[in-house]
Amino acid sequence: MPPPRKTPTIPLDSKELSPDILKKIQKIDTEKVKPVIIQCERCNKNVLIPIPIQPVLESEKREVLVNYVHKNTKNNDKHCLVFEVDHDFNILLPKAIDVVISTVSTQKKEENDKAHKSSAIRHVIIKCDKCEENIHVPVPRKIIEDSKLPKTPVTYVHKNKKGDDPHSVILYLDNNFHDRDTRFPDILILYLFPYWLKKKFCFTCS
Ligand SMILES: [Zn+2]
Ligand SMILES: [Zn+2]
Repeated sequence: MPPPRKTPTIPLDSKELSPDILKKIQKIDTEKVKPVIIQCERCNKNVLIPIPIQPVLESEKREVLVNYVHKNTKNNDKHCLVFEVDHDFNILLPKAIDVVISTVSTQKKEENDKAHKSSAIRHVIIKCDKCEENIHVPVPRKIIEDSKLPKTPVTYVHKNKKGDDPHSVILYLDNNFHDRDTRFPDILILYLFPYWLKKKFCFTCS
């Protein structure tokens, strides 16, 4: 029997929610944003995902692909939840994957240069639908070397040269850094990346 596709979300009035999450729920404009709470396997805790309502309801797709980028504040681990959301805001198939953030990164320039020189980074060229051109994705070798999967998903968050809103692409890389599959999320939710926007989170929709 296939596993159920729907992921149970945690009710907003659940007793197991932390005061921190409850405070965040209060700050969300629920006319525009649907707060959904699910367990992130990588943070090993409940995370609050503010899903923008309009782009989901207006989408012609039955299920909209969402990227939710966030950070585990305990160990500074930035990562991304990939999932689909249907028009009833059911969450389908959430998965935590690595994220590479580009263009405006918090990394200092010297650190970037060092990483390139030490060949800790391998560039993968893909065609980005939204940029409408080939882009170089700087993939840390460690992600692929440490992976036990035949195809390792990596999210790449970037802007195009015109400086539009950031968007993301998901690459599925094999052991030789070849891109075996590419997916373009419809919605990118960036959480706690204030260097891009002063807002606490932003949405990018296709
Ligand atoms: Zn997480
Ligand atoms: Zn792009």
